[in-house]
Amino acid sequence: MADKITKTDKEWQEQLSKASYQVTRKHGTERSFSGEYHDCKDKGIYKCICCGQPLFSSETKFDSGTGWPSFWQPLETGNVEEQEDRSFFSVRTEVHCSRCDSHLGHVFNDGPQPTGLRYCMNSVSLNLERDSKA
Ligand SMILES: [Zn+2]
Repeated sequence: MADKITKTDKEWQEQLSKASYQVTRKHGTERSFSGEYHDCKDKGIYKCICCGQPLFSSETKFDSGTGWPSFWQPLETGNVEEQEDRSFFSVRTEVHCSRCDSHLGHVFNDGPQPTGLRYCMNSVSLNLERDSKA
């Protein structure tokens, strides 16, 4: 696996937009239907906004109706890491980038087959590199 990327809060702040910084470094959540990618159907690879690591493919994106970009599988196991999140009096599974620990969103067990998973991501955590062939 690639080396970890570690930066100070100040460095991230300088690199990222305010919204991206709040979500990825401060575990925020963007308002549903507010993001750039929730209804995006363009083909390509969704990369980490912080470090550029490829995270999800448009091939596994589906319309969850939640207003957040949703995927049923990460591009590669190991590119995203999961962690139990006990905030807000419920147990959820938090998802972050394995390279820079950027907070991406949460994963739930009510997704479509074949995985049954729903990776509920924030648009501002992602950067879509559109398929040049499309
Ligand atoms: Zn990253």
